[in-house]
Amino acid sequence: MSPETGVSTTAAPVDAVVVPDRSVFIGGGWVSPDDEAPLDVVDPATERIIGTVLDASADLAHRALLDAREAWPAWAALPPSRRAGLLDALAAELERHGDALAELATHEIGMPIRESRAVQVDLPVKVLRSTAAIARQLAWDSRDASGSSVVREPVGVVLAITPWNFPVHQIVAKLAPALAAGCTVVLKPAELTPLNALFLAELGRRAGLPAGVFDVVTGTGATTGEALLQDETWDMVSFTGSLAVGRHIGAVAGSRIKRATLELGGKSPAVVLDDADLDLAVRTTVRNCFTNAGQKCNAPTRLLVPADRLHDAVRIAAESADAYVLGDPLDPGTTMGPVVSAEQRAKVLRFVDTARAAGATVATGGTAVDGTGFFLRPTIVTDLAEDAEIVREEVFGPVLVVQGHAGEDDAVRMANDTPYGLSSEVWSADEARAAAIARRIRAGQVRVNGVRTPALPVSPFGGYGQSGLGREMGPFAIEEYLEVKAVLGDPVLDPTATTAAPAAAGQDPLA
Ligand code: NAD
Repeated sequence: MSPETGVSTTAAPVDAVVVPDRSVFIGGGWVSPDDEAPLDVVDPATERIIGTVLDASADLAHRALLDAREAWPAWAALPPSRRAGLLDALAAELERHGDALAELATHEIGMPIRESRAVQVDLPVKVLRSTAAIARQLAWDSRDASGSSVVREPVGVVLAITPWNFPVHQIVAKLAPALAAGCTVVLKPAELTPLNALFLAELGRRAGLPAGVFDVVTGTGATTGEALLQDETWDMVSFTGSLAVGRHIGAVAGSRIKRATLELGGKSPAVVLDDADLDLAVRTTVRNCFTNAGQKCNAPTRLLVPADRLHDAVRIAAESADAYVLGDPLDPGTTMGPVVSAEQRAKVLRFVDTARAAGATVATGGTAVDGTGFFLRPTIVTDLAEDAEIVREEVFGPVLVVQGHAGEDDAVRMANDTPYGLSSEVWSADEARAAAIARRIRAGQVRVNGVRTPALPVSPFGGYGQSGLGREMGPFAIEEYLEVKAVLGDPVLDPTATTAAPAAAGQDPLA
């Protein structure tokens, strides 16, 4: 048991990471002011308090941003290969402490431990290493067709604001490309899952990240998030979260002409064509939809099947949903944990109740599980109007909607009939037919025949429409954190000075 968090860690190494209570990570170490408001972190499976962090004030938020500003010139001036080396070192620390981090993340989110290990540890390790490899190869200085030099330079201090559903992955999806680009980062993790972020900051210190390159301040969106956002010290905000908050953050960034990337919600379709293996398509869609109890931005939450197969599809989906084993997420036999909070569970149930009241059929699930923990039965809903709330809005829980389509064109129409455009899936026995449909779907990703995330996570991830602005993963992610400068004429650029010396601390580097 860690005395600070009350969380037990399996086979804790001698140098186990301990996240101290009521502390933030600034300037390469723990800062524990005693006049800041506390915030409890609750395990959604046990409803026990597992740690207490700070609801950081505007003063503390500002201190972190100033620290990142001060650290920026030296970090930006390092050769990209040195920064890449430090990303590799962080990946090694993450791997070394992977069991403890996966367990901590499971305690915070309620995600089954196998999923935690895969998404909170193995995936971030791959993202760090692949980003480091890309940074080593990137054409930081190049020449264009006119003979002018094109120089890539870091944007500056990045304010990263992240959600709770895949917390470590979402942090690393910002941290890795931002650091590779030469930016410094102040992170405000979700208030429901701040402990893994603080854990990661300590790993960064152990990996050798210089002080101020990666600071973490915890707190609610209303207090700490808003304070950071309104502070003028950052140069770019990188946000992952809901559409409502994303709109606000985008508006603040826009009013200051600051760069913003926004990774927002989704209502992703899975289009099953008449030649597809229905059984495989439905079972796989259920599995993809119900990862992390359906709290997944790119979950395929709308299953679109040929209308004459709707009955079969609903039966198969309900069977798959009923096969889930709900329980202690630390038990390797558990396949679905609780949702993250009592509020989230109430929100999901409200969606299902509204659909039921409007005449929808709840084929299975749709109720809470009595007892301790915020558990919800996996839910399949059908017989819905196309404009029903549960068809159009993101539920963020274990709820799959099944609808019938009248053929290829109708399926594409229904798939695109959404304000979102984050992800999508296509199922067909004919690869060429699937590829043609993939081109017609307006979404940032199309997965054909249930393909999983490739072992090398470098394909761009991000949304069309109201799913956001910008891309994460791979080379596109690094570009988000770079300015591009053209140097006209033919000066001999120093080939070792791969990034320009940025402005001194406290100055606007873009002025
Ligand atoms: P949320 O928008 O409520 O919160 C996200 C973050 O923003 C949190 O850290 C929160 O504290 C902070 N925040 C809230 N108000 C703020 C304010 N006024 N100023 C600054 N920061 C503020 O989202 P959530 O409930 O944590 O996460 C779920 C949402 O995230 C879903 O909509 C989901 O689709 C989306 N999401 C998107 C992606 C993606 O890559 N597109 C990935 C995961 C989750």
